[in-house]
Amino acid sequence: MGFGRRKDKASRPWRLSAKLLIVSSVATVIGFSAICVSVMLDMRRSEEELARQTLENLASGIDSDIGRNVELFDLSLRSVANNMVAPEIDQVAKPLRQLILFDHAATARHFGAIQVFDSTGKLIVDASTLDPQPEDRSREEYFTAHRDRPDVGLFISRPMLHHGAYAIVLSRRVTSEDGRFLGVVAGSIRFSYFHDLFGRLRLDPNDVITVFRRDGTVIMRTPFDLDMIGKNLGDLPGVRRALSEPSGSYSGVPSANHSPRLYVWRDGTRPLVVLVGKPWADIYKLWRIEATRIGAIMAALAVFVLGATLFLAREISRRAAAEEKLEELATTDALTGLRNRRKFDAAIEVEWRRAARLKRPLGLLMIDADHFKTFNDTFGHQAGDEVLVGIAICISDSVKRAGDCAARYGGEEFAVLLPDLSPTEAFVVAETIRLKVEQWCGETATTTVSIGVASLVPKANMEWTAMIRAADEALYAAKASGRNRTVLAAGPKLSLVA
Ligand code: GH3
Ligand code: MG
Ligand code: MG
Repeated sequence: MGFGRRKDKASRPWRLSAKLLIVSSVATVIGFSAICVSVMLDMRRSEEELARQTLENLASGIDSDIGRNVELFDLSLRSVANNMVAPEIDQVAKPLRQLILFDHAATARHFGAIQVFDSTGKLIVDASTLDPQPEDRSREEYFTAHRDRPDVGLFISRPMLHHGAYAIVLSRRVTSEDGRFLGVVAGSIRFSYFHDLFGRLRLDPNDVITVFRRDGTVIMRTPFDLDMIGKNLGDLPGVRRALSEPSGSYSGVPSANHSPRLYVWRDGTRPLVVLVGKPWADIYKLWRIEATRIGAIMAALAVFVLGATLFLAREISRRAAAEEKLEELATTDALTGLRNRRKFDAAIEVEWRRAARLKRPLGLLMIDADHFKTFNDTFGHQAGDEVLVGIAICISDSVKRAGDCAARYGGEEFAVLLPDLSPTEAFVVAETIRLKVEQWCGETATTTVSIGVASLVPKANMEWTAMIRAADEALYAAKASGRNRTVLAAGPKLSLVA
């Protein structure tokens, strides 16, 4: 059974290395996957950052363009409003008045002509003509707003049809020096301005730019959607934030059949706020393709590595088992199934050193079949072999501890190593074997065994052959004293005791 212990020692490194291979492969795959995932997430973050930056720049650019134009137009409105209260203005001739009022007024392709209405909403001055047609704007929002509240400042109307074109009307109050309402100066910025502005941008089909009035009314939007123009979206949480915070972003789903978008606004401190949106799907489009490609390659690699690892591990285990089997065959006696002489010599070497190191006794039994030649001669070699197998069974039945080693020493001789057994304990084991053989053989033919027992604590200068010799001598003593008996060799001096 000493062999059992060695068998464990021999096979464990193999099994361990198969396990180690699997563990290290799995760890490697997990490690690489983690690196990959982290790199992919970094890439994703960069894509998001880049998109955010691009949208911020876009929002900021549009915002400043619109802001500049509104400001420019407002300057003209203010100048007209101021000049309208000059006392002389009513006394000068119409062409001169036109010159005084509108000489510095901003004119551009997308700006409508500035008009002045009196306190009842009637058109009194029109920048485009000296003799304007009568117009009454007393019901218009851009008129009533100023009439009803003196502190409106620059009023931007909801989008409306103005002189045959969609436009927003910008207006300012004309106030007399004593604060009376004298009328309204108004002018329009046509939608063509926004179309022109947005047309110059390179946008993806799903990108959205919305221009809001401060109260949340949609002034303009690209892609153009007439249904959305003029709607008040101020109740949407994201829009509310865009209208109240100077810069920021939020993620929102525009409606049930739209994918979520990233919305960004920048410098939204002017009368109009620009909100730019881009679908997250578009932001991550390239990243997604890349991630899928790398993910697929990683998955294929992982499958390959794990597959190869399992294959190798199985191969290693198979070889380990085969080697174990081979070693077992190489160390087993073919007839009796006990360990062979080669194995016994190796075992006694190991146990001897171990016993010396631990200062523990090592027991040895030398067992020899009595009159075996006669038995062979009488019953034949075949029957002799069977008896040898029987004796081997009696021995292994009596020697069961893990460290014990029972071997066929040669011919009809057996040897048993009993680590840690004192002389008396070893003697007891020997007697058990002898009695078992006697009992068993008694039923068939009269074969018995004689046993020589030695047990000692190895000393530094002592060879294990000395113990074999001692056990052998004890065996001879047993033979000499009549066979079918056990003789114990004496302690350290190995003197024989019957
Ligand atoms: P003793 O009691 O003194 O030991 O007498 P013995 O006859 O057993 O001793 P001896 O050494 O003279 O004979 C040993 C015999 O064991 C010789 C041989 O026929 C027999 N033998 C040895 N190996 C085998 C074997 O493998 N099979 C069989 N059947 N017999 C064997
Ligand atoms: Mg013999
Ligand atoms: Mg014999």
